[in-house]
Amino acid sequence: MKRVLITGAAGFLGSHLCDRFIDEGFHVIGMDNLITGDLKNIEHLFKLPQFEFYHHDVTKFVHVAGELDYILHFASPASPIDYLKIPIQTLKVGALGTHNLLGLAKEKGARILIASTSEIYGDPLVHPQTEEYYGNVNTIGPRGVYDEAKRFQESITMAYHRFHGLDTRIVRIFNTYGPRMRLNDGRVIPAFMGQALRGEDLTVFGDGSQTRSFCYVDDEIEGIYRLLMSDYTMPVNIGNPHEITIRDFAEEIIKLTGTDQKIVYKPLPKDDPMQRQPDITKAKEILGWEPKVGREEGMRKTFDYFKTLSKEELEKTEHRDFTSRNRK
Ligand code: UDP
Repeated sequence: MKRVLITGAAGFLGSHLCDRFIDEGFHVIGMDNLITGDLKNIEHLFKLPQFEFYHHDVTKFVHVAGELDYILHFASPASPIDYLKIPIQTLKVGALGTHNLLGLAKEKGARILIASTSEIYGDPLVHPQTEEYYGNVNTIGPRGVYDEAKRFQESITMAYHRFHGLDTRIVRIFNTYGPRMRLNDGRVIPAFMGQALRGEDLTVFGDGSQTRSFCYVDDEIEGIYRLLMSDYTMPVNIGNPHEITIRDFAEEIIKLTGTDQKIVYKPLPKDDPMQRQPDITKAKEILGWEPKVGREEGMRKTFDYFKTLSKEELEKTEHRDFTSRNRK
């Protein structure tokens, strides 16, 4: 049985990856420090003998007994609200955490896939974004802690690849959504869906003319799996190129949820990218991958998931207060 280590295993993408690798017949070792992850995302796996969980912070030395064939590094806060509340941890997990995992991969002779992001393109001046674009990032802005950690992560991964001959993969993930997103992470999809369920107006930041391109989680996981199994070592964009303005997206959510909420406008957060759309030519050509799930179907499935959350969970999300955690 092949063995895979997945960091950020209790998070949104990490938990879906755990499911996928279990389905593919792997022995899965999940690791998470549970700062932003939630054990409920993987509790169904604990009864399986081929699943193990380590409650560990990867910014500290990482030890895993036995052999490892693959490592997927998905531990990181991934929403602007989290970067503001836990900026140092965000920097450390992308930088120190990645260094530790590359060292582990070298020790074990494992192939390692690093979760990078469209954020490395910053507020892009090239549209759509190809892998060759170097980006437009504000190093000292609120998103800088994430963007620069991820850029460093790519650099150190390529250095291990070139200097140590490590077998590496880099996926650049664009906005992804689906069941198990954290309702209170401040991202636009859980924010709008939570607001619809609580009967509140939908908060559009700025005038809503900024764009995003949303990829359903099953498509994203398929792209990541194919990249890991390919022999391509340069970064690959995995995302859905179907682009929409945030204002039109809010209208879609109002229609989907059947609510009569209004749209209210709030100030645009600093350095909020004005447009984002992946160029997925490489993923198509190299991996034979493209997204299959349309926004209507994907959003319906995601809304069905949010509807299963208790009233208590829904109410909690009105108070996005991470300050006590931040002080520890
Ligand atoms: N956004 C919004 N209302 C919200 C949350 C987000 O209008 O309640 C906007 C946000 O300003 C951004 C877009 O939606 O332009 C996507 O935000 P998200 O945090 O989901 O992801 P990212 O900016 O990292 O792509």
